Amino acid sequence: MQGKTQTTLPQFIEIGTKKIKNLNGIFKNHNVACKEVLLLCDDTTLRIGGHDIELILQKQNIGVSNHLVQNSDDGTIVSVREVIRRNAPDLVIGFGGGKVLDVAKLAAAKNNTRFISIPTTVSNDGLASPVSVIKDSNNIPISHITRPPYGVIVDIDVVRQAPARHLKAGVGDLLSNLSAVFDVRLGHERKSEKIDTNALDLAEVGARRLLESQQYDMSSAAFLQNLTQGLIKSGFAMCIFGTSRPASGSEHKISHSIDHHFPPSRGLHGEQVGIAALFTMVLQKNWYLEAVKKFYEKIGFPCKLSYLNLSRDDFTEAVLNATKIRPERYTILEDITPIDEDIRRALKKVNL
Ligand SMILES: [Zn+2]
Repeated sequence: MQGKTQTTLPQFIEIGTKKIKNLNGIFKNHNVACKEVLLLCDDTTLRIGGHDIELILQKQNIGVSNHLVQNSDDGTIVSVREVIRRNAPDLVIGFGGGKVLDVAKLAAAKNNTRFISIPTTVSNDGLASPVSVIKDSNNIPISHITRPPYGVIVDIDVVRQAPARHLKAGVGDLLSNLSAVFDVRLGHERKSEKIDTNALDLAEVGARRLLESQQYDMSSAAFLQNLTQGLIKSGFAMCIFGTSRPASGSEHKISHSIDHHFPPSRGLHGEQVGIAALFTMVLQKNWYLEAVKKFYEKIGFPCKLSYLNLSRDDFTEAVLNATKIRPERYTILEDITPIDEDIRRALKKVNL
């Protein structure tokens, strides 16, 4: 984790249908005055809604230019910062998936420009969080703590079109909070690490609500609302806590260890942490394990290491090296220091 702690929160959140059509109304309600907007998107998102956003803003005599974001790496941050410096917008809008939003969030914050996040998919909890994941020169994803978005607008009509795989990954990232929150409590109990009950409640409540909803139809408004609200709460939890800790415990350490030892990335972030959480929840004897397993089954979440092209030996190696990641965070991995045999037994138990 790089950067320093921020405690600001997004100023507004809008979730619902027809949100993009009503963009000007939303700006008015939340006093988002702007004269010049830079729209960051990719080829696809420009086509499926980016041009609409431009037209809607232009009708209000707001100047708009767009810039396509192809990657989320250090080089892209440098080039996007240069575009922001040149165009001098008073607002940056990120319209896209995780890559576009991560780049927009970090580049806008570094240039001290307001940023509004309009996700086209809800595949991880970066929507409203202060975290931006950017690949370094070795192609390893690095989490940067930065300023969260000024506002978040989620148009359910848009995210409904996202591939099912992305929504499942969003479920994995959200439900993994149940493992992360367990670890924070454990770290507090064993090592007197910092705890913030409000942040933990926020990180946990969205995940619990999703489990309790018994809504498994991923195209239904109820499912999409629950998932989106849960991921946004998760972002707020990180803002309040000041780090990603309430949403990133042993399961995220393992996923980062997989990124380091078996690059390039084996799956979407939410898939990796969602699968790793099944394993850490066995070690934790986590009360939510059965409910998470059932939810995964119902939505067809990929619950196999083979899905990530990893063998049990590979995963074992990733687990054994995971404690080198963010060693300051005490988790179940530091608590029981599992050896090969423990890892194999736990993997068997959840049939990974
Ligand atoms: Zn995550």
